[in-house]
Amino acid sequence: MLSKEQIEQIVQATIAQMNNQQTASASAPAGAAGAGNGWMFDRAEDCVDAAIAAQKKLVAMTMDQREKLIRAMRRAARENAEKLAQMAHDETGYGKVPDKIAKILLVANKTPGTEDIVPRVFTGDHGMTLVEQAPFGVIGSITPSTNPPGTVINNSISMIAGGNAVVFNPHPSATKCSQEAMRILNEAIVAAGGPMGLICCPTKPNMETSAVIMNHPKIKLLSVTGGEAVVGVAMKTGKKCIAAGPGNPPVIVDETAHIPKAAKNIVDGASFDNNVLCVAEKEVFCVNTVYDQLMSEMQKNGAWLVKGEDIDKIVRTVLINKDGKYVINRKFVGHDATYIMDASGVSYSGAPRLVIAEVPKDHPFVVVEMLMPVLGCVRCDNVDQAIDRAVEAERGCWHSALMHSTNYLNMSKAAKALNTTIFVKNGPSTAGVGFNGEGYATLTIATPTGEGLTSARSFTRARRCVLEDGFRII
Ligand code: NAD
Repeated sequence: MLSKEQIEQIVQATIAQMNNQQTASASAPAGAAGAGNGWMFDRAEDCVDAAIAAQKKLVAMTMDQREKLIRAMRRAARENAEKLAQMAHDETGYGKVPDKIAKILLVANKTPGTEDIVPRVFTGDHGMTLVEQAPFGVIGSITPSTNPPGTVINNSISMIAGGNAVVFNPHPSATKCSQEAMRILNEAIVAAGGPMGLICCPTKPNMETSAVIMNHPKIKLLSVTGGEAVVGVAMKTGKKCIAAGPGNPPVIVDETAHIPKAAKNIVDGASFDNNVLCVAEKEVFCVNTVYDQLMSEMQKNGAWLVKGEDIDKIVRTVLINKDGKYVINRKFVGHDATYIMDASGVSYSGAPRLVIAEVPKDHPFVVVEMLMPVLGCVRCDNVDQAIDRAVEAERGCWHSALMHSTNYLNMSKAAKALNTTIFVKNGPSTAGVGFNGEGYATLTIATPTGEGLTSARSFTRARRCVLEDGFRII
């Protein structure tokens, strides 16, 4: 006789097989490269159609079943973390494999699931009102080259927990690793009894497919994780857009900080995954009285201090001067500090993980979002000057900022002046997205549009149902 578990396994496998067959025959146009796999199609329009069909099946499932899919996605992401991290590193050349594994495990474990979709109830003399969070349907998601599989996993969990399907347009230079993450997640969903096609993607994502997805009439919500250009394009579509834009997180260090800890935290955060994380420390403003001690402690923690002509050599190597404005040379994004110094003809000893340089407040190492382990450090007269300069460097991105201090008045002053989405005190930037820091994790931090650290709830719409004069228990 079959056990209860065995019967359940057979039922789930049969449902999965039926879902596969239905989605493939309903959505995949004959001759499409993706026909047969049910989630990857040559034409972005076909991705949207397949996602619509899958989303209808998702909302017909119970919340328990939906959470089961989320659990399966988490498990699959964990099991494949090493492989996906290696693929992302090989394909983009960015970052460090162990740090990429850590990012994938972080989002697999700490991205909220269906528990994030909390209803609200109001009761009173006039009856009862219920507010529930409903899905948008199919979401168009544009993802970056800097955290490719991590963002796919994080967005997929959040969006599907919210009852949506998603069509991704990953960065063209991170296509393979992003699509492999999607394949793994889709397989896990189907094996857990869910429909094929909740996560779709064009075979060759590019600017054209991105435009089709962003302007598709059946996509009501866009999620965009990237730099200024893509955020601008998405905002012009006239659709609701959750924009996780660029940042340039400053670190303030005042005279009350515990300097050895501050130095270690700054080096740890700024060198994590070679600084590609958008929340990572990008420049330091330190008061004069503790400045030299901070530099010396940072060097004890793996930073290499460059001076004079060596600073100029690095500028000429990793930055491009475009009509008087510096932009990063993408060949050096997310590369090791030693690689950058070798390419610049700067000598060093050992294996430093971060380059630090004392520079003025308007130096490119301060004003440009470097996305590599090169950190400009600015000597300031006092904490007020450090705060003013940090505000200027963050340039209104509303992204992230950090402070090392034990003076709560200084910390409050900085937090108010900076007005960022994330403000980390006395820790590395990684704590701001949930690594050894309280709170859930995300890799899509909606900055200009204000949703903050996105989760399932961010990808839902509030619907109100009112029952007048009745249904109360008191
Ligand atoms: P990017 O802007 O080059 O690319 C991001 C995505 O946008 C890619 O899919 C790319 O193909 C697409 N894109 C770029 N320009 C476009 C255009 N004109 N039209 C349509 N699509 C376009 O960014 P990246 O280098 O891959 O990632 C790094 C940037 O992303 C940094 O600025 C970083 O701060 C930001 N970022 C922000 C967050 C956040 O949560 N706020 C998270 C990760 C990265």
